[in-house]
Order: sequence, then C-alpha cells, then structure tokens
Amino acid sequence: MSDTDRQVVVRFAPSPTGYLHIGGARTAIFNWLYAKKHKGKFILRIEDTDAERSTRDSIQGIMDGLEWLGLSWDEGPDFQSENIQTHLRAAEQLIASGHAYKCFCSKEEIDAKREAARKARQTYSYDRTCRRLTPEEVKEREDRGLPFAVRLKVPEGDGAVRFDDAVYGSIEKKHADLDDFIIVRSNGRPLYILSNAVDDINDRVTHIIRGQDGLANTPKQILLYQALGAPLPVFAHMSLTLDPKKAKISKRRHGEMVAVHFYREKGFLPWAFVNFLVLLGWATTDSREIFTKEELIK
Ligand code: GLU
Repeated sequence: MSDTDRQVVVRFAPSPTGYLHIGGARTAIFNWLYAKKHKGKFILRIEDTDAERSTRDSIQGIMDGLEWLGLSWDEGPDFQSENIQTHLRAAEQLIASGHAYKCFCSKEEIDAKREAARKARQTYSYDRTCRRLTPEEVKEREDRGLPFAVRLKVPEGDGAVRFDDAVYGSIEKKHADLDDFIIVRSNGRPLYILSNAVDDINDRVTHIIRGQDGLANTPKQILLYQALGAPLPVFAHMSLTLDPKKAKISKRRHGEMVAVHFYREKGFLPWAFVNFLVLLGWATTDSREIFTKEELIK
C-alpha cells in the first residue's frame, strides 16, 4: 500500500493539566470532522508525561467534554506515559544509526557557556563538543559512569527543513538556526518533542491537525521523522482562538468562559456549540451560520 492509500489517521492529543479549553475543543472538532469525512480513525491520546501537572480530574473532564460535544474517538484513550520505554528505544535506535549522540556535558559546563554567550550578546547554541568525541572518548566516559543526555544531530551546512503546512503554507527553517536539541535528559526521561513524534509515528498518524503553537516544534519533529526513516504526515496548524483584542484566551484573563464545561452548565446545546466553534476563523462564501453534522463533515 503506498502512502497515499493509507487510511486517514488523526489524533487529538491534549496535555491533561486543566479543563477542556474551547481552543482545544475546536482542534478536536476539526480532527473529528476530518476523520469522519475520510472514513478515517480518530485517536484520543492523553499526553500525560508531565506527571506533576497531569491530573485524573483533568483527564476525566476532557473526556466528558468531548463526549458532551459528540466527538467520539475510535481508539484510546491512549496514555503517553505508558509509552516511555518505546520513546527511549527510539532514542537508542537514533544513536545506533548515527543520528543522535550522547552528550556528557554537565549542567555547569553548559550554564557557563550560556552565560559567556549572554555576556558577549550572542544567542547561545550548544557548541557540539560531544558530537565530535571519538568512539574511544565516548567509551571512556561511559566506563566512568558519567550521566549523559541524548542530542539529535542536526545536519551541518547550508540546508534547511522545508515543508508545506496545510494552513500556513510553505515553511522553511535553516539547519543553522537549529541546535542539536536534547531528546533524552540526563535523568533518563525522554523530552516531550520526542515522545510526541514517536507516538505519532507508531500510531501511523497521517494528518497532524493541531494548534498553531505546535508550529515551532515541527521542523525539529520533521528531523526526527527523517532520522527514524518514517513517512512524513501532513501538518495542519490551526490559528489560535483569540479574544476580540487578539490576545490568547486563558482562564487567568478570561475566567470560566474559556472552558467547555461552562457552556454545558449554562445549558447550551452541544451541537449548537460545535457549530459556533467551527465558525471561528472560517466561513462559507454565503456566510451560512447553521449546519447539520453531515454538512459540516462534508
Ligand atoms: N499535548 C499538546 C498540547 O496539549 C498537543 C501537541 C500536538 O497536538 O502535537 O498542546
């Protein structure tokens, strides 16, 4: 089966650190509609690797909110925290294939270099000391039991990561502007950027439809896909849900009205609320305001 014949697989991947936000609900709606239109699969993945901030109440609240809106998922909830060994295996695979390396630089060394860059008014980026270690030097450090982080090798030279975002269009990020970023911390924990990409690869997600705040991670994630030899998904970053002054909506500034449960408690009809959310940032040429489910899917 070629990539173009692959079944459409999308996912909604909330971090369960609070209630279901209306911006999150809007992202979930577009994923759900896209899956329905293409007879694809909609996965609910709870990105709970931040153990301190993730709560059971939040997970329950997010699922209740999605159910209330009528956004049923075909697979899940999957919990990212259960896949940590898989994320670490991907990092080992990247080291073995020469796409990543162990970095033994201590926090103190890095902090000193960062401070020196700050004093010289330069932007700090990792100087790739450990990328240049010989196999013998690596072995010597391993034998001493030195802790290490794992960094991805960003290609050197003039190249760039290029991709076409389905919403934002053609995007380019020069390799020279990307650091050899950390994918596993020296305490052995994978970084979120790795976990997120590895889960999407293993779930065979074909279309990553997420908030615009994910766009900054995308070039790095594309490098991870390429290094792991995985086919690239389509990326579609949705504009954020803003207030009339174009500020990001947040509970701190706007209160309960940013939460889906607020509308539920006020007696809004769920489909009317979905209908309202899809029309934020989108309209038909004849400015229609009311749609049936089938029409929205189409
Ligand atoms: N867990 C991320 C969030 O809640 C989602 C990132 C993604 O969809 O790739 O913002």
